[in-house]
Amino acid sequence: MGRRDGHTHPGQYTRAVLRIYDTMSRSLREFVPIEAGTVSIYVCGATVQSPPHVGHIRSGLAFDIVRRWLIHSGYEVTFLRNVTDIEDKVLAKSAEAGVPWWAWAGRNEAAFRAGYDILGCLPPDLEPRATGHVTQMVELMQRLVDSGHAYASDGDVYYDVKTFAEYGRLSGQRLDAMQPAGDTEGEHRKRDPRDFALWKAAKPGEPRWPTPWGPGRPGWHLECSAMASTYLGPHFDIHGGGIDLVFPHHENEIAQSVGAGDRFANYWMHNAWVTAAGEKMSKSLGNGLLVSEVIKRWRPVEVRYYLISAHYRSMIEYSETALGDAAAAYRRVETFVDKAAPLVDGWTGSVATAFADAMDDDFGVPAALGVLHETVRAGNTALAASDKEALTQAFGQVARMTSILGIWPPDWQDRGRSDLAAVVDSLVGLALEQRTAARERKDFAAADKVRDQLAAAGVLVEDTPSGPRWTLRDG
Ligand SMILES: [Zn+2]
Repeated sequence: MGRRDGHTHPGQYTRAVLRIYDTMSRSLREFVPIEAGTVSIYVCGATVQSPPHVGHIRSGLAFDIVRRWLIHSGYEVTFLRNVTDIEDKVLAKSAEAGVPWWAWAGRNEAAFRAGYDILGCLPPDLEPRATGHVTQMVELMQRLVDSGHAYASDGDVYYDVKTFAEYGRLSGQRLDAMQPAGDTEGEHRKRDPRDFALWKAAKPGEPRWPTPWGPGRPGWHLECSAMASTYLGPHFDIHGGGIDLVFPHHENEIAQSVGAGDRFANYWMHNAWVTAAGEKMSKSLGNGLLVSEVIKRWRPVEVRYYLISAHYRSMIEYSETALGDAAAAYRRVETFVDKAAPLVDGWTGSVATAFADAMDDDFGVPAALGVLHETVRAGNTALAASDKEALTQAFGQVARMTSILGIWPPDWQDRGRSDLAAVVDSLVGLALEQRTAARERKDFAAADKVRDQLAAAGVLVEDTPSGPRWTLRDG
């Protein structure tokens, strides 16, 4: 099935077209998937050199919202977010700390996963690690060397940027205006200072893998090209990451993958930074903005609400005051849900048309939250007037909208009880979303398969007027 343009759901609305801001074309483009009904997404994840601060996790949250809205819209979404576990900065930081590089990377990877999880990001379908895909990187390099785009020089391998006519298109730069890549000490081994390293020859004490051009380790850019195509194939829908990755990282990914003959990504999405005192957040600003610290001052759902409440392409100037305002706004939603829940029975969820329109307009969360708060106000009016019908309608809409944004209050109240239960709940919730989407597109075989797979894992699903409920089979 395709995007259900013009198709009216029972009790819902005529769907608008989803438009996405594409960095490559510098414009809003109608989203058309490569294969009808499915969306494949690759997001550049963490370089695991340090534990995450809120700026790092913003990217995870931005693409979590993208994914949730696509799932809600009926797509079957495949979502990959990689782990860069071998890179200059990982080696430098681990050496400074006197810890083996792999242990340093492993600890920080765990800290990132905990950070994404505690702020309610659905787990990716896969988190490929760079070190697990060196074979595919060497294969990709071989294709680039064979096609004349890359050359070996004293154990390093470089990409010859002059061989790729499109170089600079993503970032809007002309090759003749570019600075030297400055990505290696081997500048004298390059044919052109703007050439970038695909592979770096082994140095004493550093990890190394064999290649036809000598032992060494991969460059960061090569890692992502190889991991994306290993799983998503030569052509996939959306490539995402932070705005700071446009150049050189994503420019170089395109040079590698398209240079090797792949079509690569159809849409390029980039989220803006979190800044503190006007600067890109970095470790020099201290540890107070580590996710592990911020959640000591604020509840995780409040931090999530704050970080998603700005449009993903707008900078967030971090401040405790702004976070406090966001937390107060979230509590207004929570208070309404707490008061209304005991008075409402048999509600059905639907989203307000204006909410869907906002989300279809390049994932416009600020406008969508405006609709949410209007609905909460209408619900509070209904509460005061003891108008049960209006209350039930508002409650259902609030439930649906907050679920889509990952901020449905009861989910977060349950989270405190058991970390494991929260993880299971989020995984089963994801499977149930896919099942609902399959049913909506009348693919009952796929819907039944999800239910059967859950049953095989001991999760029993029961359909109730308020949506599917699940329980664990006893014994
Ligand atoms: Zn990447």
